[in-house]
Amino acid sequence: MQMVLMPNPNQSKRTPTKPTNPNDAWILHREEIDTTQEGTCNVYALIDAFSGFCFGQTASIDQPELEKVLELFSTAKSTLGFLPKELMILKSDPFIEMFHDICRDLNIPVTELTAKELRPYVREFSKSFAQFKLMGATTEDEIDEHSMPLPERLSEIEEQELDAFIPDSYSPCSCSSGKKFKFCCKPIFREIAFAMCAAQDGYLTEALEHMKQAETKVGRTAEVLCRYAICWSFTDMTKTHQYLKETFAVNPNHPRANYLMGIESVGTENYETAIAYYQTAIDHYPKNDRFHLNETYNNLGTAFYSLKRYREAKEVWEQALLLLPSDETVKNNLTEYIYENPLVPKELRGVSPFIKKFL
Ligand SMILES: [Zn+2]
Repeated sequence: MQMVLMPNPNQSKRTPTKPTNPNDAWILHREEIDTTQEGTCNVYALIDAFSGFCFGQTASIDQPELEKVLELFSTAKSTLGFLPKELMILKSDPFIEMFHDICRDLNIPVTELTAKELRPYVREFSKSFAQFKLMGATTEDEIDEHSMPLPERLSEIEEQELDAFIPDSYSPCSCSSGKKFKFCCKPIFREIAFAMCAAQDGYLTEALEHMKQAETKVGRTAEVLCRYAICWSFTDMTKTHQYLKETFAVNPNHPRANYLMGIESVGTENYETAIAYYQTAIDHYPKNDRFHLNETYNNLGTAFYSLKRYREAKEVWEQALLLLPSDETVKNNLTEYIYENPLVPKELRGVSPFIKKFL
């Protein structure tokens, strides 16, 4: 694989919150890095939780090599003279089993933490890493005029705790191919994002150019075809329908294509048809894809409401709110069209108990 140069993350030190001694806890932390030839790589860093000191790191395209990880531990041990009392690791780390095995052999207890719990310990490291990624990308000519400065973007995202909405590389891809995001639509994530922005701003030619690049990378997948359909939807619905037809030929369950058909069916007041499309989309989005599921439940609620099926509308809107408690649109829908709507039978107007805390 391509050489990945490593940053020196030891310039900035921070005050620890929990561990009070070196060797109390080490962290095995994963960062991702985009390379031009290999796509995304994993970089695992072994970090001392007390000082934030990084003992070393290893890069791999997918699963890290056992030998390399063992080397990290032995480097750290020879630096400090001891092994730690515990190893902290992200609960959802894709290779956690492998690290459990290593720690079992080394007799180190493992503590699994959520991203939020782990963040204070790895924040400085992540920041220096983001800076490095930015510099690295510049030399590799990877940055173009569309890219925002990465460090600012990262801290902003951190502050707003938006990480739930950025698909994890090892989550199932939201196109419902059954593959992991990293090995499916991630390589064209950037092209699609640019294409969608350009299309929305009315720059169809530019949008299609981005899509052409995506197509060159992965071929005419259902996701690519569906995104072509979206690009055309601002100007030419005949083209949109051609592309959607092609999308369904590749994958009849493609969630976004079904979602789009739902919207279109609502537009022509075919609410039953819309409900069926939305339902198919919901059935095929990955269960942890809260962002897309929220959006689809929200629209499904509107279709139910249009048919005066208030009970179902309430159910799915509340479901949408559960998925994304900060969603103002769905809060307004529930309040205006259900809880405070005199047209809705009184017994349906109560706020469900599990929803109260979100309003
Ligand atoms: Zn995909």
